[in-house]
Amino acid sequence: MSYKSDIEIAREANKKPIQEIGARLGIGADHLLPYGHDKAKVSQDFIAGLNGHENGKLILVTAINPTPAGEGKTTTTVGLGDGLNRIGKNAAICIREASLGPCFGMKGGAAGGGYAQVVPMEEMNLHFTGDFHAITSAHNLLSAMIDNHIYWGNELEIDERRIVWRRVMDMNDRALRDIVVSLGGVANGFPRQGGFDITVASEVMAILCLADDLDDLRKRLGDIIVAYRRDRTPIYARDIKADGAMTVLLKDAMQPNLVQTLENNPAFVHGGPFANIAHGCNSVIATKTALKLADYVVTEAGFGADLGAEKFFDIKCRKAGIAPDAVVIVATVRAMKMNGGVAKADLGPENVEAVQKGCPNLGRHIANVKGFGVPVVVAINHFVTDTEAEIQAVKDYVASQGSEAILCRHWEKGGEGAEELATRVAELADGGWSHFAPLYPDDMPLFEKVETIAKRIYHADEVLADKKIRDQLREWEKAGYGHLPICMAKTQYSFSTDPNLRGAPTGHSVPVREVRLSAGAGFIVVICGEIMTMPGLPRHPSAEAIMLNEAGEVEGLF
Ligand code: ADP
Ligand code: MG
Repeated sequence: MSYKSDIEIAREANKKPIQEIGARLGIGADHLLPYGHDKAKVSQDFIAGLNGHENGKLILVTAINPTPAGEGKTTTTVGLGDGLNRIGKNAAICIREASLGPCFGMKGGAAGGGYAQVVPMEEMNLHFTGDFHAITSAHNLLSAMIDNHIYWGNELEIDERRIVWRRVMDMNDRALRDIVVSLGGVANGFPRQGGFDITVASEVMAILCLADDLDDLRKRLGDIIVAYRRDRTPIYARDIKADGAMTVLLKDAMQPNLVQTLENNPAFVHGGPFANIAHGCNSVIATKTALKLADYVVTEAGFGADLGAEKFFDIKCRKAGIAPDAVVIVATVRAMKMNGGVAKADLGPENVEAVQKGCPNLGRHIANVKGFGVPVVVAINHFVTDTEAEIQAVKDYVASQGSEAILCRHWEKGGEGAEELATRVAELADGGWSHFAPLYPDDMPLFEKVETIAKRIYHADEVLADKKIRDQLREWEKAGYGHLPICMAKTQYSFSTDPNLRGAPTGHSVPVREVRLSAGAGFIVVICGEIMTMPGLPRHPSAEAIMLNEAGEVEGLF
């Protein structure tokens, strides 16, 4: 049997005008700012007027540690949203926008897959409503104003060797990682080392995703540390006087985008910060808006639950004052096998033993999430190659951990394939069992916060950090940043910092290489291992196969 590609399925979608989707949520046409016929932004005024409304239930979709076999968090988020609507609930989903880098590189789309997709998927994966372009522009305006400030006399006494604000673009381009700017003579300024990151790694992206409203956005933009003086005192974006103009560039991008699933259910797609040096979930403003308008809101966090869910809880929920009512952990038979030591090329034949061997990875994620006080259900995202015995092995294992695993076929069947999951999720969310609490209190010393995450979530024995790093954390505490949460940046492939250590390792150490203060976003980034903020393209980027066909349609986007 052959299956249609994601883009073929998306192209056959029976889309409704976006006004109809908005009307389902009670958003009047005058509050929808249409971008074409099938996308709209929700007006700032409308959102401001929702304050008194009660919140719906918040459901987080997270996963085991990712493997190259693919887990399908976004696909499950969309499928569960459609499943909830199919069983008669009023549900909306909230997911991230796509970056052009992975789109033309190798990762695949951000709109879900199979019969659980958000449409228009081509546009969502390309320019969409221009939010990423606005973020890129706002970021680079600040970069330009910094070099311009130095050019015109450097009144703020910026130490040119200590400029921490780089430039960004939304493309994978390793050639721009480390560059020299201002070459070419006196008229071009003072030559110095600079570089580009990908737009999703911009602090502006993280800020847009955490800001409550435009006032909060401007304040956070002003709080960005752009450079230091020789005496190590910080210089802020506010000192460069860039925060006002950056806010202007971002005012439309701050309004969440509304689109629809293949089954015409509402989907908010807004923001898309990296899940390593940032927190990896869609905007607070989209999630909060959806909670006011729908009875159930299904949202996704990047990577596995050790990174994505932990940051969703400890950064997003803590800062936004929201709390999850239930969590879905996505697992696949294939990924269990890979965690059990099977190579990607050998995933085809049945191998119950390998599935069982890989299950402790899932088990630890279940226990970790329960540790936050939130009820959990496992979704087995069904692949057509899975066998009955393999699926049963996962179910038995999850039952032995005191939870339930439900087989889902939304990729193949849309919302119908996720009805059982939807029914269980609604029960859990409505049951009032969640007594969510973040992992650590605000006032815990910063290094202890890092240790708490490493020990409780990663099951590491210790955190290794030299004196320089510990001193830096103490300095930030003295400077008034001690209350900030931690944003861990480590490999997504393992609980440890070694990407090859699958399963549920114990006894490892977490070496901290670097710490960074994202004062505007409001977190401290703790970098463990190599983290790439400007990815490169693979030998054969997917861009090679992307083109327009004779009908003028996009081919090759997944
Ligand atoms: P994540 O959000 O975890 O990164 P996605 O939901 O984006 O993963 O899915 C990644 C890719 O895997 C997509 O191209 C999707 O079509 C594919 N995929 C997801 N679930 C299935 C499935 N059950 N069977 C086959 N392919 C799937
Ligand atoms: Mg995803």
